[in-house]
Amino acid sequence: MDKGKATGTTSLLSKEVKIEGDIQGNEDLQVDGQIKGSVKIDGDIFVGPTGTIEADVEAENVVVQGQITGNVLARKQLQIQSSGKLLGDCIAQTIDIKELTLERQCDPEYVEELSTHMDQVDAVLSMACGCGVQEIARRYKDKPVLPAVNTKFMGASERQGVWAERCQGCGDCLLGLTGGICPIARCSKRLLNGPCGGSTNGKCEISPEVDCVWQLIWDRLKALGMEDRYEDIMPAKNWQTGRGGGPRKIIREDLAE
Ligand code: SF4
Ligand code: SF4
Repeated sequence: MDKGKATGTTSLLSKEVKIEGDIQGNEDLQVDGQIKGSVKIDGDIFVGPTGTIEADVEAENVVVQGQITGNVLARKQLQIQSSGKLLGDCIAQTIDIKELTLERQCDPEYVEELSTHMDQVDAVLSMACGCGVQEIARRYKDKPVLPAVNTKFMGASERQGVWAERCQGCGDCLLGLTGGICPIARCSKRLLNGPCGGSTNGKCEISPEVDCVWQLIWDRLKALGMEDRYEDIMPAKNWQTGRGGGPRKIIREDLAE
């Protein structure tokens, strides 16, 4: 959005200026000071980081870096930047809420990067998995954190638009014995030594849409020339590493402080 495009000029209300009363005009307006009164202009309005408006605002485009307490009608676009606040209703052709990319939301030192922004937001909408959402909530106790996604499972894409569970994080991985195919996540009975009696034509008894994982394991071992593995009795699985005992933790003594 270019400033001053309505008439080529921009009026400036500087930081130390306070106005009480309604404002109308056909120029763009940059507000770095305070306005108590409605603003209705044919140009664009930019509310800078120090700017505040306490009343309704109507303009072509509205950019908010400071605060508007009132309703906004943007005939074209409303942009609320990361430092901006709008306390009121808004109508606009398009609404833009500034966003921040934060990688590794499950790691405290990365979550700390949000600290300079948190006093400028009412809530955080996190696109991380459930771990990232919880880590932000743990660090910033006075801000609501909402999950933008619904974390389902550790899975893989089978084809476009279809994802399937592949691992349940059992903590005692068997993939080295099963040709790289997981019977914990992919068999509803978690069988470890071949299929149950419900396996029919390579499909699972729970649905003809679901492959029997032991058919997949057999096919895979055969393709690898490792059929003899199939006859081996699987060692007893250590289920203590699963989550049945409650939340788990990993501690690396060489790194832990
Ligand atoms: S055996 Fe356990 S760790 Fe390995 S893929 Fe299956 S659920 Fe995941
Ligand atoms: S049919 Fe195969 S995948 Fe399904 S429950 Fe039985 S062994 Fe598991």
